[in-house]
Amino acid sequence: MGFKLERLIRENIRGLKPYSSARDEFVALGADMIFLDANENPNANGVNRYPDPHQRSLKAVLANQKGIKESQIVLGNGSDEILDLLFRAFCEPSKDNIITLPPTYGMYKVLSDINVIENCEVLLNEDFQPDVKAILSKVDAHTKLLFLCSPNNPTGNLIQSEKIETILNEFQGLVVIDEAYIDFANTESWICRLNEFPNLVVTQTLSKAYGMAGIRLGMCFASEEIITILKKIKPPYNVNELTQERALIGIINEKKVSNQISAILNERNKFKETLKEFNLVQKVFKSDANFVLVRVDDAKMRYGQLLDKGIVVRNRSSQPMCENTLRFTIGTREENKKLLAALKELDL
Ligand SMILES: *Cc1c(COP(=O)(O)O)cnc(C)c1O
Repeated sequence: MGFKLERLIRENIRGLKPYSSARDEFVALGADMIFLDANENPNANGVNRYPDPHQRSLKAVLANQKGIKESQIVLGNGSDEILDLLFRAFCEPSKDNIITLPPTYGMYKVLSDINVIENCEVLLNEDFQPDVKAILSKVDAHTKLLFLCSPNNPTGNLIQSEKIETILNEFQGLVVIDEAYIDFANTESWICRLNEFPNLVVTQTLSKAYGMAGIRLGMCFASEEIITILKKIKPPYNVNELTQERALIGIINEKKVSNQISAILNERNKFKETLKEFNLVQKVFKSDANFVLVRVDDAKMRYGQLLDKGIVVRNRSSQPMCENTLRFTIGTREENKKLLAALKELDL
C-alpha cells in the first residue's frame, strides 16, 4: 500500500474553506496602495497594520537557507502551535491515535489529551533508540502521526537514521521529526530528505540554538501537499509583526548563531567532564544538544538543594528509564561555574 495523504486528512478539514482576508490578494501589488479594508488605525507606528499572513520575507530567507521551496514551509507561534496544527488537521477526536516514544518531549502527550487522541506509547530501548518492530506492531488504520524527537528531549541523543528511515518506509501515516535541537548536533537535518519521503514532516524552532525563545517562532517543513493543509487551518495572523521582523534579523546573522552554538558546545563538553568527578553523579548521558541528562544519587533531594542555592534545574525522574535524573541546560560560563560550585559543596 503506497502513501496516500488524502486518507489521513480529517473529513471536516478536507472540505474546509479557509478564512481569507482581503489583504491576502492585494498586498503583493505594492506598498503605494490605500488599505481601507481591515479596520486598522491608519496612523503609522510600525505595528498599526496586520502582519503578512504568509510571512513572505521570512520564508524567502528560510527557503534559501534550507534549500527548499517557500511552499514547503509553514510558520507558527512556536513549534507548539505547529504540533497543534498537525493534530487538528489529521487526527479525528475520539477515533484516531498517535505513537510517541517516551522518554520524550511532554507536549505530544498534552496535545493528544487536548485533542482527545489516544497516545500509544512505545518506550525507547536502553540506548534511548526506537524499537522499530514494536512501534510498527502498534500501528493500526487509525494511527495518523508518529513523533520522533531527534536530538531527543530529555535524553539528549540523536535517533539513529537507519531506524528513522525504516519507520518512514514502513509507516503510512505522518512521521514528525522534532528537530528543536538539531543545530547543536553534528548531523544534517532530515529536511534534505523531504523529496524522498512524502510522509515526512520536520519541525524546528528559533527557541533554542537561535536564542529567540521570547519571540515564539516555530517552523514546519514538509511536502507542498502537507503544508497546504496546515496553512488552510492556521489562524491568518498567527505570527505577529514584531516576531517576523526580529526573526529575520536573527536568521540572517548566521555567523553570530554558529559562534554561539560553538561556545555552548564547548561549555557543555567541559561541564560534562567536570561532572564525572562528583560522587553524587552516577552517569552523564551522551548529549547532542545544549543540555545534559545526569543520573544522580537522589534526584529529588539534589533538585531541592540546588533550588535552595538559587539554581533551577529540571528533575526528569518521573519519565520512564529516567529514575534519579536531572536535566541541566548549558548556561553562560558564569552560570555553569556556579552550578558546578554548588554541586561541589553538596558532594561530600
Ligand atoms: C523546546 C522544545 C521545543 C520548542 O518549542 P517552541 O514552542 O518552538 O518554543 C519543541 N520541541 C522540543 C523537543 C523542545 O525541547
